[in-house]
Amino acid sequence: MKAMALDAYDGPPTWRDVPDPTIGPRDVLVKVKAAGLCASDLKIVDGLVPSVSLPYVPGHEVAGEVAEIGAEVTGLAPGDHVTLYMTVGCGLCDPCRVGRENLCLSAPRIGFEMDGGFAEYVRAPARNAVKIDSSVPLIQAAVLPDAVATCHHALTWKAKVRAGETVVVVGVGGLGIHAVQLANLMGARVIAADVEPEKLSAAEGFGAEPIDVRVEALPAQVNALTHGAGADVVVECVGGSAVTGVLGDAVKCLKLNGRLMVVGYAYGAPLTVETSDLIYGQWNIMGTRASTLQDVVDVVRLVESGRLTPVVSETVAMEGLSEALETLRRNPPVGRIVLTT
Ligand SMILES: [Zn+2]
Ligand SMILES: [Zn+2]
Repeated sequence: MKAMALDAYDGPPTWRDVPDPTIGPRDVLVKVKAAGLCASDLKIVDGLVPSVSLPYVPGHEVAGEVAEIGAEVTGLAPGDHVTLYMTVGCGLCDPCRVGRENLCLSAPRIGFEMDGGFAEYVRAPARNAVKIDSSVPLIQAAVLPDAVATCHHALTWKAKVRAGETVVVVGVGGLGIHAVQLANLMGARVIAADVEPEKLSAAEGFGAEPIDVRVEALPAQVNALTHGAGADVVVECVGGSAVTGVLGDAVKCLKLNGRLMVVGYAYGAPLTVETSDLIYGQWNIMGTRASTLQDVVDVVRLVESGRLTPVVSETVAMEGLSEALETLRRNPPVGRIVLTT
């Protein structure tokens, strides 16, 4: 088959022949229809993700049609539409036993330590293939396991947002636009901060109060909107080299005992907090990574019922991966860039 194989860190993946994947008795073979592009893919091609070994095929936001099922697979059939939960937990450790696969210490991920979906076909354990109604476009289904489920995990399992709380989403990109929608669904008052009018109006369209941080610094605006109280929860979805400065502003938006969710990150970018502020503010600062299989099932159901809209900014043919990576690097859009086969 053909795939976007990453052979070295001196250039983007290239579309070439690779061996056809073979499946085990509990696996499925998925014919890839759509694969989302994530900031992690930039880190991978830049050689910053040490767990990746070359050559391999990236792509961890995958949706497609089941092409073949293993002998022991039940509940899935060829032709079913699926999206793939990326983390392949060992199934035996304490976190896996209670469904916290993102805490598993030996969990390879589809598109990181295993071949991913920038390909014609991908192999996945059947357990990771979440069936999705065929009424949901596969380009939308592709972004659910990461861009949407990561925010779902951050807001539900970790931040435990309650109805009536104030949630500030900083950065309305591929993750932030979904954090806005989910916080809204959870009954929160949602404030969305960014520097681009297009992103702010998209967030407003999903019920957020927009803040343009070019006009005035984030803490001052959140302070004004909350009459000096601050936010219950701040969700940082920026990442990249700007993340240290953004986090410095984000903590200043927190209410007493507020929660800061660090979702975006960059290697070598520290989080600096004045310790007296941390103690007197009784802040809860939390890192949150990816999601559980349950999060993916939950967001699939929300999309099937029409209550959540996966936001795809553009679709690009799979062979256009390298230009799409540059777009993501230079000017990340609101919503996801999705590659199609
Ligand atoms: Zn990702
Ligand atoms: Zn495990």
